[in-house]
Amino acid sequence: MSLVELDLKHIWHPCSQMHDYETLAPIVVKRAKGIYIYDENDKPYMDIISSWWCNLFGHSNEIINERIKAQLDILEHVIFANFTHETAINLACKLVKILPAGLNKLNFSDNGSSAVESALKMAFQYQYQTDKPHKTRFMCLDGGYHGETIGALSVGALDLYAKIYKPMLMDVIRIKSPDCYRCEFNQMRCSCKCECFVYARREFERYGDKTAAIIIEPLVQGAAGMRIYPPLYLKKLREICDEYGVLLIADEIATGFGRTGKMFAFDHAGISPDIMALSKGLTGGYMPMSIVATTDKIYNAFYAPYNEHKAFMHSHTYAGNPLGCAAALGVLEIFAKFDILTVSNNTAIYLNELLNSALLNHKNVGEIRQIGLINAIEIVKDKKHKLSFDPKRRIGYEIYKAGLKNGLLLRPLGDVIYFNPPLNITKYECKRAVKLCVKSIDEILPS
Ligand SMILES: *Cc1c(COP(=O)(O)O)cnc(C)c1O
Repeated sequence: MSLVELDLKHIWHPCSQMHDYETLAPIVVKRAKGIYIYDENDKPYMDIISSWWCNLFGHSNEIINERIKAQLDILEHVIFANFTHETAINLACKLVKILPAGLNKLNFSDNGSSAVESALKMAFQYQYQTDKPHKTRFMCLDGGYHGETIGALSVGALDLYAKIYKPMLMDVIRIKSPDCYRCEFNQMRCSCKCECFVYARREFERYGDKTAAIIIEPLVQGAAGMRIYPPLYLKKLREICDEYGVLLIADEIATGFGRTGKMFAFDHAGISPDIMALSKGLTGGYMPMSIVATTDKIYNAFYAPYNEHKAFMHSHTYAGNPLGCAAALGVLEIFAKFDILTVSNNTAIYLNELLNSALLNHKNVGEIRQIGLINAIEIVKDKKHKLSFDPKRRIGYEIYKAGLKNGLLLRPLGDVIYFNPPLNITKYECKRAVKLCVKSIDEILPS
């Protein structure tokens, strides 16, 4: 039997209708280097989405490879309760220096969703232990995505992932989110005053007293189609959270580590959240690891003699995994050594200009929105009225398939096609990727 046949015999792939695999078989990846992944027949695909947004510096990066290999011969894993190790300690010291001010304590988990669970429990318990036991509810933004476990799904607000499970989920307060492409207040993004914040204010007035925390994806709502909103919205949130004693949880799982042109999306607003969840780019896309960062103030609410039962009794087997920590140290080393933010911001201007000049006039391109190297192309049926195609046509999926044929990995979010490449992508690679992208779109939607 071929590898594909054996795969389909036993493997149930994530986030897939397996029926689709009848017409589009899984691609067997043999190896990967830099921006390229290679299939069984050595056909290259440009991985322009960083393999689910995590691969930060290309595949098989020499520095990260080295750090993991060196760690492997010393210590592969050890219980992290009452034990520690130098790699985790080094990572913690370095990370705290670059995190937004005040985020001084780090709690380790092993994937993004579990970091979100941990953040929610931490916020809830903090309120309880600081004499606010009535603060039991959570708020989130429409279109938000925070992972797939039950708590994380509850604070997410995308029906595609959550609808069927509704009876299992917490009852969360949803706030109508900013939608700058279809802004109902007709504002330009550059001069926007975030009038849509009235929707947040309304929910805070109603439920602020009962709410433990609000969780948001800062600046970019990834799974909603890379919807981008201004830093001013974060500042307004910070103020209203302080007013109502609501903790602000930043899910920087996708935006962290340079994706938005600054180290963290919150850096654009110059403020700090109370709790921050990190994963994906944290290990350069190598190892499943996540971190929940928080303030001394929150940490101190859990710090008491054992019999007062205030500890955060939350754990994951692989918390503080040394191989993950070694990869993360490699990531921070690369940032410093190659001044990655400067380089990637330079490339970002180039990539955005290329995409604008190649696609902005296309009759089915409604908007190209950009922050850092993230560029999202919203495909619409009617540009003037910003009308989408019938979802049954699966236009995004059709373009995805054309992309694969052309050697480009462009996973769509509905009818939004996006670039979220490694931060060290070269200008030459950008040029090639844009060319393949235009070709793929034109094949499905001739201009
Ligand atoms: C990917 C993602 C998650 C979930 O992380 P997993 O490791 O897939 O569980 C949570 N929040 C955001 C913003 C993400 O992009």
